[in-house]
Parts: sequence; structure tokens; C-alpha cells
Amino acid sequence: MSRPSTPSRNRNACPLCGKPTVAPHTPFCSQGCRDRDLLAWLGEGYRVPGPPADPDAYESDADGLDSPAPRPL
Ligand SMILES: [Zn+2]
Repeated sequence: MSRPSTPSRNRNACPLCGKPTVAPHTPFCSQGCRDRDLLAWLGEGYRVPGPPADPDAYESDADGLDSPAPRPL
């Protein structure tokens, strides 16, 4: 049942490069791969799906005559 040398599809392999994971960097193999994954996540995060908030649209609406804007204190 035990296969000594099968490095393919190891559960404890780095998802980025496939190297064996190292304890302090789990589930990655190194700080470098951690950073790469983090940057990838941040990159995804910056691209927020959906229309971006348009302050001009809100301001023009608040400045409209038919919608009383709440008075800020
Ligand atoms: Zn790695």
C-alpha cells in the first residue's frame, strides 16, 4: 500500500509549485509561494465585480429637487 516515491498529487504539496510543504509556510512550501498566493488574492480582490460606486451619480441625485437630502449635523 505504501508507495515510497510518488511525488505527484501529494496532499502536502505546495499548490503553486508542487514542492513539499514546510511547516511554518503551510500549505505552501516557502515564504515566496505564500507571497505569490497572497498577491494573487489581492489582485483578484482589486477587481471587484459589478459597477463601481459612482460618487457623481449620488451627488447629482442628492442635489436633485425631488429628493430632500438629509442634513448632515
Ligand atoms: Zn511552492
